[in-house]
Amino acid sequence: MKLVIYPGTFDPITNGHLDIIQRAVLMFDYLLVAVTDNPAKNPLFSLAERVLMIQNSISDKKNISIESFRGLLVDYAMEKKACAILRGLRATLDFEYEFQMALINRKLAPDIATIFLMTHEKYTYLNSTIVKEIARFGGNISCFVPPIVEQKLKEKFKPI
Ligand code: ADP
Repeated sequence: MKLVIYPGTFDPITNGHLDIIQRAVLMFDYLLVAVTDNPAKNPLFSLAERVLMIQNSISDKKNISIESFRGLLVDYAMEKKACAILRGLRATLDFEYEFQMALINRKLAPDIATIFLMTHEKYTYLNSTIVKEIARFGGNISCFVPPIVEQKLKEKFKPI
C-alpha cells in the first residue's frame, strides 16, 4: 500500500490545501494529513482545533486520515511506513525552502521521496496567513476556506 504524508501547519486549512489533498488522494492508496506542532510559527489555532477543522472539511475520508505529530517529520514518516512526503508549491517563493527541506529529509531518510504538486492557478496567492489577516479585519473569506474555517475565524476575531 502506498501511503503519502502531507505535513503542514494548517493554521488554518485553506481551499489551496484541500485542492492538493483532493488531487493527491487519486495518486496514492492512502493519504495522511499530518498537522505539525511548530510552536515557532506561533499558530492562531491549537493543534486540536486545526485537526478538527481538517476533519470537518473533508467529506470522503475513505483513503484519508488526519493526525498531529511532534518531532522529526522523517521519523514520523518512517514510523508510518510512508513512501513519500507531499508538499504544495505556489510560486518561486516556496521553492528554496522546499528544496532545502527535501534535500535534508532525503539525507536523513533516503528511502522517502518528497514530491511536489503545483498549486491550482486560482490558489497561487492563497496561504493561511493572508486568510487570517483578512478575517482579523472582518473581510469576506468564504471563497478561500471551507465553511468550518470561516466560522472558527469569525469566532476568534469576534469583537468583545
Ligand atoms: P508549513 O508551515 O509546513 O509550510 P502550511 O500549512 O503553510 O505549513 O503548508 C503546508 C503545505 O501546503 C506546504 O507544502 C505549502 O506549500 C502547501 N500550500 C499552502 N498553501 C497552498 C496553496 N494555496 N496551494 C498549494 N499548496 C499550498
